[in-house]
Amino acid sequence: MYDMIVVGAGPAGLTAAVYALRANKTVLVLEKASFGGQITHSPKIENFPGTVRISGTELADRMVEHAISQGADLELGEVTEVSRDEEGFTVTTEDGSYRGKTVVAAVGVRHRTLPLTCADEALWESVSYCAVCDGAFYKDKEVVVVGGGNSALQEALMLSELCKKVTVVQNLPYLTGEARLIELVNANPTITVITGTVATGLLGNGTLERVAVKEEATGKEDSIPADGLFIAVGLVPDNDRYASLAELNEWGYFASGEDCLTRTPGFYIAGDCRSKQIRQITTAVSDGATAALAACRYLEQR
Ligand SMILES: Cc1cc2nc3c(=O)[nH]c(=O)nc-3n(C[C@H](O)[C@H](O)[C@H](O)COP(=O)(O)OP(=O)(O)OC[C@H]3O[C@@H](n4cnc5c(N)ncnc54)[C@H](O)[C@@H]3O)c2cc1C
Repeated sequence: MYDMIVVGAGPAGLTAAVYALRANKTVLVLEKASFGGQITHSPKIENFPGTVRISGTELADRMVEHAISQGADLELGEVTEVSRDEEGFTVTTEDGSYRGKTVVAAVGVRHRTLPLTCADEALWESVSYCAVCDGAFYKDKEVVVVGGGNSALQEALMLSELCKKVTVVQNLPYLTGEARLIELVNANPTITVITGTVATGLLGNGTLERVAVKEEATGKEDSIPADGLFIAVGLVPDNDRYASLAELNEWGYFASGEDCLTRTPGFYIAGDCRSKQIRQITTAVSDGATAALAACRYLEQR
């Protein structure tokens, strides 16, 4: 029986682990994909105090190392269910189950997908949500990036250092990212921007050859040569499996406030998965500390 089980090893979950461990609690952190969370997809972070400029993977490594150095147990596995009984919580993964007196859900958000048509399942292998992870597969090739916000523009700039051609496809008539990023994209000779257009499908025989697109205003259909497709059209919560323990708002985020509490004693929320104005590393680590200290208070009063 752990004192605390943290679901999700992003900045929020790893911070919660460090705070609980420093209060002499035993902690298990369960992670389904990459230790470090979303930041592992970020080539460069320049707004996390104390680091000036750091790659997402390096910051993630440091956070993981910090949690392990304090005594955290880390396991890879997707949590499929969390249930409560009189003694505590059972946290179930595909491989088994774990017992904890408290649980911190720090499950972040997942990538929004696109309803693309595709006649050949193999073509999905050329679709990615992460230039840091998969960009190297497209060295000297042509890629399409769908999206026009900061993430899409960062992905396009990173891919432009590797690829022969990068086409950004944005549904709105303008890009929505920061002015500085838009300037960099517009000045980059490897990047072409097509606005007012949506990606509709994957075309090819065995491997991706073209991305089908449609102009929003006219409905005119066309296609763009592409060896790879990177989708960066936003992030959405994935919290339904915890709905019996915590309130969700109309968009599916946990309705917990700054105190990170839920209607279930011993069950706490931290990071991007909860309703909030600003989703950043700083706000995620803040929640991690708040949730862990709330859990420690609960453990001491039990
Ligand atoms: C490309 C990109 C660039 C960014 N750049 C910056 C930046 O420069 N500065 C900044 O401050 N922020 C940046 N952000 C935002 C920042 O990464 C997030 O705000 C932060 O990671 C949120 O931390 P979190 O711990 O709440 O969630 P996440 O980082 O999303 O971590 C949640 C973790 O939970 C895991 N998980 C989810 N469900 C389960 C489950 N059922 N079982 C087990 N594990 C599960 C996920 O796999 C994930 O690892 C960027 C994000 C992206 C995508």
